[in-house]
Amino acid sequence: LLKAEIIAVGTELILGQIPNTNAQVISQALQEIGIDVYYHICVGDNKERLKEVFQTSFKRSDIIILTGGLGPTEDDLTKETVAEYLNLPLKLDENSLNRMKDYFKKTGRQIANNNYKQALIPEGAIAIENKNGTAPGVLLKYGDKIIVMLPGPPREMEPMLKETVIPYLSKMSTTTIFSRILKFYGIGESDLEERLKDLIDSQTVPTIAPLVGRAGEVTIRLTAKAGSKEEAQKIIRPTEEEIIKRTREYFYGFDNDSVEEIVAKLLIKLNKTISIAESCTGGLLAHKLTNIPGISASFDRGIISYSNRSKHELLNVKNETLENYGAVSEETAKEMAEGIRLSSGTDIGVSVTGIAGPDGGTAEKPVGLVYIGYADSSTVCAQRHIFSGRRIDIKERSANSALHLVRK
Ligand code: ATP
Ligand code: MG
Repeated sequence: LLKAEIIAVGTELILGQIPNTNAQVISQALQEIGIDVYYHICVGDNKERLKEVFQTSFKRSDIIILTGGLGPTEDDLTKETVAEYLNLPLKLDENSLNRMKDYFKKTGRQIANNNYKQALIPEGAIAIENKNGTAPGVLLKYGDKIIVMLPGPPREMEPMLKETVIPYLSKMSTTTIFSRILKFYGIGESDLEERLKDLIDSQTVPTIAPLVGRAGEVTIRLTAKAGSKEEAQKIIRPTEEEIIKRTREYFYGFDNDSVEEIVAKLLIKLNKTISIAESCTGGLLAHKLTNIPGISASFDRGIISYSNRSKHELLNVKNETLENYGAVSEETAKEMAEGIRLSSGTDIGVSVTGIAGPDGGTAEKPVGLVYIGYADSSTVCAQRHIFSGRRIDIKERSANSALHLVRK
């Protein structure tokens, strides 16, 4: 099996100013093509230290991928350092220079003198086209090692990785690792594991790994190794089907599916219109739903109604309800959902009202108490939840569970 490692270059990474997302993205991509990543290294913009870590990596790994430090400035020294270590001169790559000139023309900027240095690549290397920036990447075969250098900015790095580097490396790898993610909501990780215990205990191919996901969701990752993606998928399929059969009430999607996308598509398909009245989520629910292209066919309006007065004036929640039960109550949630539905004339009305904290909780109504209201032409109901976490977590969980309520 091929061994790879990733060197992220940048002082801002070392200082903790930005997270090293490049390493994460590259690792995931390599893992899919069956290349094992053994190390993530992070080093500042410093020639001596970069040389030191590169030397170590070069000795122990087959593939070394560096990101960052391909820019035009003084502190960008990745290519120089690697070329120096390998004793390769830097040569001007005409293609890259022409592309860079075009890029500057297109973006209406002046090419600066120090940009020319970006078109230099080590002798014998292949330049990787950068469609979203100036610095080309570098792909260098050196003996039986492969060295890849990519720019730091993720929007430049990722297309180069996916369009050029991964196809190149996958030709060298004879195995594929393929993963399928199943997503669940409304069931805890341990309950889910309990239902699948015999499968988890007995199965080695594919491997079954339950993971706690974000905002109350639980995921299961099925992984198989095979000669091709299709073969791996075939290995996974029976287990996938068995798991879904046993957990159907909680299962909602695969891989990158999001609940807002599923809900949006469902609403559009069923030709249902929706309006939203939000208190504690402050517009987050409407924000999530409107992140999905095409939702204008279904989404009519959202009202952020924070005060009692606005709940009464805009959503027609009765003053007695607010006085007798409070703003965070089943009754208010229902009246909010019905209020927004009737005033907007949509098929569905949804509401959220709760206590996001950190203050404002009581023994009777603790921080994290949230009611989700739902109204359509035949039902008006509300769900009670108690979520834990910070204010922002509670908002996130509330918006998500409202989406799951609509999904059902
Ligand atoms: P530039 O031409 O923009 O200078 P560069 O290849 O020299 O590109 P760096 O200067 O190292 O790259 O980083 C530029 C920016 O790219 C950083 O400020 C940061 O926003 C982002 N970046 C760099 N490395 C990483 C990383 N490992 N993960 C995520 N983002 C990164
Ligand atoms: Mg830079």
